Amino acid sequence: MAQKQFDKVAKQIEIDDATKDLLRNPMREYHFNIPVKMDDGTVKVFRGFRVQHNDARGPGKGGIRFHPDETVDTVRALSMWMTWKCSLLDLPLGGSKGGVICDPHNLSNREQENICRGWVRQVARNIGPLQDVPAPDIMTNGAHMLWMLDEYETIMGGKFPGLITGKPVGMGGSLGRTEATGYGVVYVVREALKELGIQANKTQAAFQGFGNVSQYAIRKYQELGGKAICVSSWSQADQKAFTIKNNAGIDVDSLLSITDRFGGINPQKAKELGNEVLPGDAWIEQDVDILFPCALENQITEKNVTKIKSRVRLIAEGANGPTTPEADKVIHERGIYLLPDFLANAGGVTCSYFEQVQSNMNYYWTKEEVLEKLDQKMTHAYHEVHKLAQKRKVYMRDAAYMIAINRVAQASKERGWV
Ligand code: GLU
Repeated sequence: MAQKQFDKVAKQIEIDDATKDLLRNPMREYHFNIPVKMDDGTVKVFRGFRVQHNDARGPGKGGIRFHPDETVDTVRALSMWMTWKCSLLDLPLGGSKGGVICDPHNLSNREQENICRGWVRQVARNIGPLQDVPAPDIMTNGAHMLWMLDEYETIMGGKFPGLITGKPVGMGGSLGRTEATGYGVVYVVREALKELGIQANKTQAAFQGFGNVSQYAIRKYQELGGKAICVSSWSQADQKAFTIKNNAGIDVDSLLSITDRFGGINPQKAKELGNEVLPGDAWIEQDVDILFPCALENQITEKNVTKIKSRVRLIAEGANGPTTPEADKVIHERGIYLLPDFLANAGGVTCSYFEQVQSNMNYYWTKEEVLEKLDQKMTHAYHEVHKLAQKRKVYMRDAAYMIAINRVAQASKERGWV
């Protein structure tokens, strides 16, 4: 999917074959085993990855995901999207991604700590503040980042807060980092609504996912006056997704009181709180103005794209890669305005960059300063993409790709690589 998107745009811009070859595949990848002593005394071997797609513009940057369905191919695609994301936001960073095939639902904290430490032991010499800087992603958080940092500092002998971002506040983390991705999605939605001449407080929206991105996106969207009527989640007990609907509006705080640490809402309790519980795909077929896919990749597909109601004017991709190329074609043809993932969800990595800057200075900004800088960066990137899309009469995703690819191609050329 990532390569298909790249190929489509590479044809429309002037880049030579060598540059295409360079950017179409990751520069480096590490695959390794992580043996872990489990709480019951047995040893389990987990599979870990770090993929460095491109570092022409600066040290690699990107999260580490813990997921049972992780594969090296998803990590490859995600690393490539990180390159475009950092480039589009004009951050002096490249793109990387990491992962471990595991399900934290079934792991104790001690077992997760051992996976984190084991992951770092395998790649300690290949990551670093000036080489490649990890961060949280799906099912990883500040606690995981701190275990990883601690292991790295033990191996390297020193303090290196710039190794990793998404650290807890007070331990080198930045205020606003937790909120950054979700808030960032809504900053660009706010700008897009202005361009479309739609008043935010007259809109309704449906969200997919109730993890870190979605929780803060819903709150920010509600601050704009929008009405979130629907959110989907994952039931670990039933091993399937479901959707929560509330025509009076989703109450994030009440849902959080019945949500596990991975964003899984308890469907039974949600019903007791007065919400409707619908099938997993129901979020996409709501009569709303805005759709926010904020869960995983490959969620809007050829099969369900036809369920999107004619009222939908805007799709904001809070997740990485939620739309397959086939579904994307349909969205484009229907003229729905799209905020592509590596623009819409770039708030997380942008705040990670601010965290690095603060860690390097050992001087920390207020939350207001962080969020103001974040808003400026996101708003600027949005207008760059929108302007190019208008000027060249291309789809928003393609315009974002054009800007991002051109910058990385230019950096690779100036370094004399191609
Ligand atoms: N995992 C987040 C993303 O996909 C953040 C990455 C980072 O902060 O480096 O953008």
